[in-house]
Amino acid sequence: MSTIPFLDLSPQNEPLTADLEAAVSRVVRSGVFILGPEVEAFEESFARLCEVEHAVAVNSGTSALHLGLLALGVGSGDEVITVAHTFAATVEAILYCGAKPVYADIDPHTLVMDVGQVEDLITDRTRAILPVHLYGNPVDMGALKDISGGYGIPVLEDACQAHGALHRDRPVGGWGEAAAFSFYPTKNLGGLGEGGIVTTDDGGIADQIRMLRNHGESSRYRHERLGFNYRMSAFQGAVLNVKLAYLDAWNGVRRHLAERYRNNLSGRENPGLKIKIPEVTPESESVAHLFVVLVDERDRVVEELADAGVQTRVFYPVPLYRQPAFADLVEGGFSLPVTEEISEQALSLPLYPGMSVEMIDTVVSALIAVV
Ligand SMILES: *Cc1c(COP(=O)(O)O)cnc(C)c1O
Repeated sequence: MSTIPFLDLSPQNEPLTADLEAAVSRVVRSGVFILGPEVEAFEESFARLCEVEHAVAVNSGTSALHLGLLALGVGSGDEVITVAHTFAATVEAILYCGAKPVYADIDPHTLVMDVGQVEDLITDRTRAILPVHLYGNPVDMGALKDISGGYGIPVLEDACQAHGALHRDRPVGGWGEAAAFSFYPTKNLGGLGEGGIVTTDDGGIADQIRMLRNHGESSRYRHERLGFNYRMSAFQGAVLNVKLAYLDAWNGVRRHLAERYRNNLSGRENPGLKIKIPEVTPESESVAHLFVVLVDERDRVVEELADAGVQTRVFYPVPLYRQPAFADLVEGGFSLPVTEEISEQALSLPLYPGMSVEMIDTVVSALIAVV
């Protein structure tokens, strides 16, 4: 029996080996290993993808979130409205700034921020809103910007899983005052190592982030404010320049495979099937970073799928407000009903460029047999 892996990066990286090696050699010979022309070229291309004026490359998505919040003025004692069904870095970035996360619940259909809850969470200390386009599925940014604009509160998008996703035909990364992306190798656009970027239309924010990523230097040896060493490696810039050209095609494959899962697992095809599939609203175009289904008895499903040769993964099984590192930031007993329920039910099926439709069909048959 052949196993279907949860993820295999070789179909996307192997055909590019010659181009990637040439890009890496170019950097070796250039003698410029940090920032420099390769990174600048990537920043320009990535800004174009997001239809924004500026993109500032950093060394990870976590750093991009941290600097994005600092550049929006988030500091000690401030509150940032976000969600608890996300990767830990979203909340870590808030805490690095000395601020406190305030959690909105997620929508049970889209699994991203329930924008309808945000207004009630706004206080005089709310300094930013941090929505997460989780699983590649955009938050309802139109509605969120109506609220944030009314209160004059800036928005930082966590777009670390959503390179190329659209909301109302406009790319994510251009909706908030700023946005953070990650190029961790498994993301829709993945480097060969760590990387991240902040996108923005605001020249002042871009200048702050350029300064903050480089020890707070405004000019050589003038340290304007406390900064960090968050610069992108030139190797990563060169690699990402090669891979960015394929993002559209890879996202197209992801969407195609996700559509096949969606159709073949739908209630219409399989009346009575005990699986729920998250929705993408008609206003949004997801880039299917992960394909999530909601199932009961998840542990049993995972185990029986593994026995049938299908690897699956459970992401975010514990809401962040219950994690040991963050539990003391909420009142005892704090709980968000949808976040809780989804954290127990969400299961990610294999989905990556290079996966065949036959493999999707094998996963579907195995899943139907198990539930
Ligand atoms: C990957 C990810 C991050 C962090 O990015 P790194 O590059 O790993 O630091 C932040 N938020 C979300 C939602 C992510 O998926």
